[in-house]
Amino acid sequence: MSQCAALILAGGSGSRQGGDVPKQYLEIAGRGILRRAAECFARHPRVDMVRVVIREQDRALYDAQFDGLDILEPAAGGATRMDSARLGLESLAELDPGCVLIHDGARPFVDGGLVDRTLDALKTARAAVPALPVNDTLKRSGDGGATVADTVDRNGLWRTQTPQGFRYADILAAHRAAVGSELTDDAAVAESAGLSVALVAGEEDNIKVTTPGDLARAERLLAGRLGMTRTGTGFDVHRFGPGDHVMLCGLRIEHDAGLEGHSDADVGLHALTDAILGAVAEGDIGSHFPPSDPQWRDAPSDVFLRHAAALVARRGGEIVHLDVTLICERPKIAPHREAMRACIAGILQLPTGSVSIKATTTEGLGFTGRGEGVAAQAVATVRMPAP
Ligand code: MG
Repeated sequence: MSQCAALILAGGSGSRQGGDVPKQYLEIAGRGILRRAAECFARHPRVDMVRVVIREQDRALYDAQFDGLDILEPAAGGATRMDSARLGLESLAELDPGCVLIHDGARPFVDGGLVDRTLDALKTARAAVPALPVNDTLKRSGDGGATVADTVDRNGLWRTQTPQGFRYADILAAHRAAVGSELTDDAAVAESAGLSVALVAGEEDNIKVTTPGDLARAERLLAGRLGMTRTGTGFDVHRFGPGDHVMLCGLRIEHDAGLEGHSDADVGLHALTDAILGAVAEGDIGSHFPPSDPQWRDAPSDVFLRHAAALVARRGGEIVHLDVTLICERPKIAPHREAMRACIAGILQLPTGSVSIKATTTEGLGFTGRGEGVAAQAVATVRMPAP
């Protein structure tokens, strides 16, 4: 099956009044607008690759915002939106995807359903754009906006949104042919190449954040969407046995013993998985991955963690923060702490700042004190849609 790429356009320089940071790099509810847009595609099972097109001078802003999100390196954009879209498409040439979704980086509320509808339309159409019918009466002014010159018939008029979907070869050729023209969306480029463009249902919430008023509206939308904060806790223990390494928080650490367990015995990821499952009241790791099932023998525990995170995402929720405490005398955790944070952030596509790893001994007391095993506890905080 051919691959699907998402190209996120973030080459704009429009900034908030008084600021010099372009809008797409501002945060709503603790996460950047551009990152929110990109995350939807990065997490979508039908999207294979994601690339953001940025201004070169925004690279530091980009790096700070995309910490922990595993997507393609950004591509450099051009002077106009048209140039940025074409350069972004050219940058995918080596990867040669079958189809491409082109999305505005300033639309953070794109969701999986909209991506699905656009991709579904591409099964039969050469191009597809989400759109909404125009409901307001339209006026044209004749003197710079002072008075109404006439009323425009809104019948058959649609407001288009993104992501707009195309077959990759089609839209690349269309953009190459349209260099220098001043079209305002990629569908117009496809139309200019004679391609038929299908309309799919857009979403009112899929707003483009352009003015300070939009930013306030985006904050309100998100507060409404994720109005409920929930926490969950997890606890796990694994016993030491023969071996030469342990897996802790996704990291392989050389050691003079191993940890026994049905899977890779990663006590840190197991506690964390249970914490996330707890936050969404979805049972525990054993109910999702029974130890009696041979398919989980020696399984890497990131599979369990991803599954728990997917349950949160499926309900429209968001992981806000994770905190793990590892309890053991040895191995020493401190030298590996930062690598563990990065590992978990990478598995869950979270900012590293949202992942905390702590460690403690039990002063020689109890089973961890006697060096018989490792224990871990974890707390997960998630935001969910209010019921
Ligand atoms: Mg376990």
